[in-house]
Amino acid sequence: MKLSLIVPCYNEAENVEAFQNAVIAAFSGCGYDYEIVFVDDGSGDATFHNLKKLHAAQACPVKVIRFSRNFGKEAALYAGLQHASGEYLSLIDADLQQRPEIVREMVEILDRQPEYDIVAAYQDRRGEGKILSAFKKCFYSVINCLSKVKLRPDASDFRTFRRSVAESLLSLGEYHRFSKGIFAWVGYSTCFLPYTAQARAAGTSKWNFRKLMNYALEGIIGFSTAPLRLATYLGCCTALAAMIYLVVVVLQKLIAGIDIPGYATIIVLILFLGGMQLLCIGIIGEYVGKIFEQSKDRPIYIAKEVLDYKEE
Ligand code: UDP
Ligand code: MG
Repeated sequence: MKLSLIVPCYNEAENVEAFQNAVIAAFSGCGYDYEIVFVDDGSGDATFHNLKKLHAAQACPVKVIRFSRNFGKEAALYAGLQHASGEYLSLIDADLQQRPEIVREMVEILDRQPEYDIVAAYQDRRGEGKILSAFKKCFYSVINCLSKVKLRPDASDFRTFRRSVAESLLSLGEYHRFSKGIFAWVGYSTCFLPYTAQARAAGTSKWNFRKLMNYALEGIIGFSTAPLRLATYLGCCTALAAMIYLVVVVLQKLIAGIDIPGYATIIVLILFLGGMQLLCIGIIGEYVGKIFEQSKDRPIYIAKEVLDYKEE
């Protein structure tokens, strides 16, 4: 098998068949074999029903993995990587925002240029609002400043890569998966290819601002320990400020004879220090929580059903 297309699907009932047709059209006459690995991420609609039909028809080799509940896109990609048998593997969304024709182009690049291991698509024009794009820009500058791995702001997880890269991705068994960071962490030489994201074929995006915010925090905590150091810096700065204030108060009393203004200062300091202590405990708590979850060593996903096909 030359190519595996790994497709996470969450409530994509209206899209899966159109997606398969688009793939068949895009790869007609390509001269190599390919398979589609659909991962149904616990959809609540007819996604699995429709995938079953595609699997029964086998218009092209189709594998279906069905999760026991919604585990998230990252888990779906992991499951897809585990079940794909291609020499090249491609991660692509089910909603046709990312065209399968581009995957064909990516395969040609990998064939022609053995020096590249990954071809990653990045969006040349983003059709999103100003606030969201400012938020994303801010996130990338923070994570690139805090973390050793460097992320490219406009790159998505729409990628095609060699099997060796897939093996490396699978060797990172962390429970909280942040694929942009994982790709940056495993390295390999990457060729960046511009693409324009299409409008969603049907259905709605599964992302909202709260989910994006949580995803951003996961990314920072998963790939940097710099926030922990913040506590040390904050502690040092406060101690220094307290020393300076002590000298000022003593001088005021000795030289100018001013009485020390008590009440307001104490209230402000208690609130300030209390707030900072809670902030630091919160940061430590985030990391302890991650350690706790990882230490339970739970599987990244649970597959309820796997529909394979027999290779002739
Ligand atoms: N997806 C998934 N599990 C989820 C959320 C999304 O498998 O919990 C899939 C979804 O079906 C789609 C892809 O991930 O194929 C990208 O999702 P979406 O289109 O909502 O994201 P966007 O394109 O808006 O970034
Ligand atoms: Mg989409």
